[in-house]
Amino acid sequence: MDLKQLYQDIILEHGKSPRNFGKCAGHNHEAKGYNPLCGDKVHVYLKLGEGNELENVSFEGEGCAISLASASIMTDLIKGKSFEVSKEIINDFLKMVKSSSEISSNNLDNDQKTKIMSLSGVKQFPMRVKCATLSWHTLVSAMNKEKDEVNTEKT
Ligand code: ZN
Repeated sequence: MDLKQLYQDIILEHGKSPRNFGKCAGHNHEAKGYNPLCGDKVHVYLKLGEGNELENVSFEGEGCAISLASASIMTDLIKGKSFEVSKEIINDFLKMVKSSSEISSNNLDNDQKTKIMSLSGVKQFPMRVKCATLSWHTLVSAMNKEKDEVNTEKT
């Protein structure tokens, strides 16, 4: 199986059965995001623990397969990570879908890197980049306790 096919399968699978969908128990932060170009909507729920770690992360949303798969993969990878490590992974992801060709984080295993890299194909399609990054920007907003809705046309 070639890499392109593998990446496509991961996106389709996560888009069809998103992980961590719904409101997670005990969430104490949340944020909404909207991508007007595609119509994707996402609502991220976050439970920050005593040590500021991302104890639980979940989302609700509707939109294209890319936006759902990206949110699903994000919650999967970020759940349980410390605040600093989460920020590093988020920045790494945002860099990867825009310019860089790989994920440099030491905090992801190979399987997790493959999952995150499955979204690398959007780089050639600027419209799709917004679908892929929506939930990640929204998670940052939840982490920073911002009140405004994230809008991909304003980031
Ligand atoms: Zn979309």
